[in-house]
This record gives sequence, C-alpha cells and structure tokens, in this order.
Amino acid sequence: MPLPTENVGSLPRPAKLQATIAAYDEGKVGFEELAAEQDAACRDSIERMEATGAPVVSDGEQRASSFATYPLTDTLAGTGLAPNLAADGQYFAIFDDGHHRQLPRLTGGPFRYKTYASQYVEKSLPMAHKPLKQAVIAPSMLSLLYPLDGQLEDYPREQFLADLCDEAEKDIRQAFGAGASRVSIDFTEGRLASKNDPRNPWTGRRMLEQFIELNNRVIDRFSPEERRNIGVHTCPGGDMDSVHSAEVDYAELLPSMFKMNAGYFLMQLASEKDKERVYRLVGEHSRDDANGVPQVCFIGVINPLDPTVETAEQVAGDLVTAANFIPKERLGATDDCGFSPFSVDDKPRHGSPDFARDIAFQKITARVAGVEQASEQLHL
Ligand SMILES: [Zn+2]
Repeated sequence: MPLPTENVGSLPRPAKLQATIAAYDEGKVGFEELAAEQDAACRDSIERMEATGAPVVSDGEQRASSFATYPLTDTLAGTGLAPNLAADGQYFAIFDDGHHRQLPRLTGGPFRYKTYASQYVEKSLPMAHKPLKQAVIAPSMLSLLYPLDGQLEDYPREQFLADLCDEAEKDIRQAFGAGASRVSIDFTEGRLASKNDPRNPWTGRRMLEQFIELNNRVIDRFSPEERRNIGVHTCPGGDMDSVHSAEVDYAELLPSMFKMNAGYFLMQLASEKDKERVYRLVGEHSRDDANGVPQVCFIGVINPLDPTVETAEQVAGDLVTAANFIPKERLGATDDCGFSPFSVDDKPRHGSPDFARDIAFQKITARVAGVEQASEQLHL
C-alpha cells in the first residue's frame, strides 16, 4: 500500500465568492445568491482536487466562514451570528504580520452549534467521485468563547464545557453519518497555547494540558474503529500568508499532543527549520497503540503560504528522510495547513486568491506525485 496522503481542508475562496460574501454582509444580495456562489466554488474545488490524483478530497471549505467559526456565524463579519454570542470576544490569534482574528463571546447558555459540518458534507458529497474528507473545529478552540476569568451568570463553565463536548461529538458523528470518509479536528490553538503573547492573554495561561483533556473527552467517545478515521491537525497558523506561533518549539507541543487518542495527525513540517529534529520527536512521542488505534503521522510536505511550488522530488525526499524516524506503516503526507482557513483572505504573497487557487492545485499535484515516488523508494 502506498503512503496515505490527505489535505487539511480549506482552499482560498475565489475572488468572486469573496465579493459576494461582502455584498451579502452589506445586504446587497440574498442568501440564495451567496449559496449559489458557494456551491459553484465547492464544485470547482472538488473537480480540481480530484484532477490532482489525490485519493481523498475536500470541498475546500468554501461554505464556511472559517475553520473555527463555521458552527457559529455565516460570515466573518458576523452576519447570522448564533444566539447567546456577541461579536466582541477575545483574540484567537495575532499573526506575525500584525493582523489578528477575533472570536465571538459567549453571553449565556445554552451553547449550541448553529451549523454542523455535516451540512457541508450533505451538499458536497454528490459532487465528489472520490472519498470526501471533512474538517471540524476542536472543542478546545471553542472553549475560548467562554470568558477567561469568572463565570457567566446562570451558565457555569462546567455546564458550558459539557454542552460543548456534546456539540463537538455530534459534529463529528453527523459528518461521518453524512458520508465523510475521514474527519480531522483543527487544533491550531495547541501550538499557540505555549506562545505567551502578552497582547493575547489566553496564550499565557498554560492551557495546553486542559485543551488536550477536553479534546479527549470528545475523542474517547468514539470506538477504535471510528478513531482510525478521526485525525488532529496542528500548525503554527496560516492566514493572509502569515503564521502566529512558528517560534514555539514543537518539543513543547508534541509530547502532549500525542496523548490525544486520535488515529492520525496532520502536522505542519514543510516550513519547519530543522525537520529532522521534529521527525525524531514525532517518532519518539507518537504511539503504536492509542487505546486501540495506531497513530498515523502525516507530515507536512507542502507550504500553502509560499507561492513557490514544491517539486515531487522534494516531497519524496522529505518522506524518505522522515521514514528514518517514523515507522513507515505509520507515515503519511499532508500540507502544512489549509490553503485559506478564513473565508476572507486575499493571499498577499500570491497576489490574488484566484492565482493562489491555481498554485494550490499545483502543490497538491506535487504532493501526490511525491508520495508515489517515496512509496516506491520505501518499497511500499
Ligand atoms: Zn492549520
């Protein structure tokens, strides 16, 4: 069997879709027009991803406001915000280029998702001819909706966390129920949790262990057979071609991260400075048996923030090197991150979102070809 390979999830939204989102926020077009643009972008994303030869595809998350806020709001500007939320929550992240992204703020209970990822799967599955994956947001990210300090009146933190775990479980179960072949949990806040950015108070609270515990409260509700197809994605962020936590040493994250009982991990590595050191850490800390499932380690071989397209030879070289540290039965290949986790993203290093889409498909094609070469070299 060749090495498995899978993307994280998102693609840049076409300029036309981003313009329609802005027009929708301004009340100039209705939801039907927005939905038609989203559907067209999903269809194009699936067709072009299938044409790369990728064995598993996604719809590029073209209907989601972002990887983190899709359950809560129709657009990033807050149109269609779910009940019990206000737009002025804490920063999720401040990126290296100075821009930031903000979360909504919980104002009361009960906490419920407004949109489940399965709703995207239901619409996109009929467009696909290959297995369709779906990404979901980690409960740890959404735990940041609750005020950092103190309690909400009539809605204690523990009740919120119990509701959140139920919703996150439902999100995953329904995505599989709608036909997703794989479900990966976006956990970009894991690395950021060790950053201690004084401008962004939650990052200084040493929250990593509680994030891991909370996510396992959800992951452990699934059988080993189900968890084979439940993944976790880690990265230093990827928005507007910028990152938020690349300076955090993987050694701070990986020993904790692999305590999550997921069956596979999608890990940024292409843009890492000392890849071999991280491959070694991955080999040391990932587990053959995470309560009944082996942890398959998909290493990042493509940098979605850099317009330079990797070659298949580079991809194969990274994988063959990684196989010196990670058992090849538990090795796979992925991209460092989604290509545009937030719906509104002009991909400044690429010049435009449409050009960035073209580049993304070239990069995925290189990943798929590189995986084939590496599989041969490793006699798989
Ligand atoms: Zn990411």
